[in-house]
Amino acid sequence: MAGGGPVGSLLAILLARHGYQVGLYEGRPDSRVTNIYQGKSINIALSDRGWHSLAQIGIGSDAKDRAIPMYHRAIHGVDGALSELPYGKEGDAIWSVSRGGINEQLLDIAEREPNVETHFEHRLVNVDFETASAVFQVQSKHELTVEADYLFAADGANSKVRRLAHNLPRFSYSQTYMPQSYIELNIPANPDGSHKLEKNALHIWPRKHFMLIALPNPDGSFTCTLFLNYSGDPSFESLQQRADVEQFFNENFGDAMEHLEDPVDTFMEKTASPLFLVHVFPWSFNCRVGLIGDAAHAIVPFYGQGMNCGFEDCAELNRLIAANDYDWDKIFPAYENARKPNGDAIAELSRRNFIEMSDLSGDKLFQLRKMIEAKFSRRFPELWTPLYSMVTFSPEVPYSEALRVGDEQRSIMDQIMQIPDIESDWDEQYVMDRLHDLSIETFGERQ
Ligand SMILES: Cc1cc2nc3c(=O)[nH]c(=O)nc-3n(C[C@H](O)[C@H](O)[C@H](O)COP(=O)(O)OP(=O)(O)OC[C@H]3O[C@@H](n4cnc5c(N)ncnc54)[C@H](O)[C@@H]3O)c2cc1C
Repeated sequence: MAGGGPVGSLLAILLARHGYQVGLYEGRPDSRVTNIYQGKSINIALSDRGWHSLAQIGIGSDAKDRAIPMYHRAIHGVDGALSELPYGKEGDAIWSVSRGGINEQLLDIAEREPNVETHFEHRLVNVDFETASAVFQVQSKHELTVEADYLFAADGANSKVRRLAHNLPRFSYSQTYMPQSYIELNIPANPDGSHKLEKNALHIWPRKHFMLIALPNPDGSFTCTLFLNYSGDPSFESLQQRADVEQFFNENFGDAMEHLEDPVDTFMEKTASPLFLVHVFPWSFNCRVGLIGDAAHAIVPFYGQGMNCGFEDCAELNRLIAANDYDWDKIFPAYENARKPNGDAIAELSRRNFIEMSDLSGDKLFQLRKMIEAKFSRRFPELWTPLYSMVTFSPEVPYSEALRVGDEQRSIMDQIMQIPDIESDWDEQYVMDRLHDLSIETFGERQ
């Protein structure tokens, strides 16, 4: 296994439990002994797909003790006004978890498996795609060749294995940059360790072409991410002068300014990270080498699904191993054929969700649309599960199915929102009746 991130560690555990001897080679030092995160809490939203996949290795309620449920979006208007938009039905939550924490927990479990060996500061530099042997640079000092029957590359969005595969015949590849880049900011805890903003919410400052979001940490702080265009106006490129940056923050995030820790200095000091999507096929080579997680499908973070999707890759592969009688000539093709359409679907859904988060969640008509959908879904749950709930709270619905059904729902809701006086009449029975008729016409009696 190349890459001991969350996906590589989870896959190592699953393979070991099938009886395979697993070597887990991670390029960085071990974060459990070397503080590579420099004391920073970086968090991530884990939802039902991720939890469902982790349940396969027995991670469940104890990990949730260290996570914070977020039941709704807390939307901060430019004027500081706050509104709420629930994520799903009552009790549905996405969970803020520490990115490093979940990785370390998985590494701990992997190391307890008798047939897993971990090797840190081993950076993969070359692969033989015929034999699955790989060359690692050890502590940037010397090279080591490792022979294995199979190699999985879980080496992330900038995967070295995937880049080496570019030289193979018939390898399709595309990388698309989003206009936005991002930096992380911080809202520290109150002196008594409590949160400065509502704890059980994902906070969003949607500003159409850019946005700020904040996810809570158990230590009372919030990890914030500013998504802003790389170029244009305003952008990371255009905001160079301190006075301009100060004005940008004060005008757009006025109510956050009293809480953010040195946002202007941080903005001036940090280099913004790019956001990009990667589509490749195949995900396996000669039935010896496979790609998994971000290495197979780097997506953008606007649906909070990258890690969830990577964990689901592992769960699906885990299922296919036994289903195909441990025959890797069958497992690799079955895995890539099952997961590729879902990787493509969540990439598309994530790309689209920037608009939903940064623009529409601050828009009254968008909120009305969500309210109508939620009401209809409560009344006719067998006919309508909102797209967000299909993606986030319905692991039994593949991403590709969620995308397809979501597109049909969107065209139905477009028609509903055309009803004259929808803003005043949205709660009237005739609106529900019309939505019911259109749903039956499109989906039949059941979705
Ligand atoms: C700003 C941001 C916010 C996000 N928010 C969410 C969210 O809310 N929810 C969610 O589900 N996902 C989110 N994601 C996505 C999520 O972080 C990734 O999908 C997830 O980390 C992928 O896991 P991975 O193990 O495949 O890759 P990674 O986490 O990138 O791990 C890859 C590992 O491989 C190692 N490695 C790299 N190259 C080599 C090499 N040559 N040799 C050996 N080792 C190597 C790396 O050091 C690393 O440890 C977010 C991503 C970003 C950027």
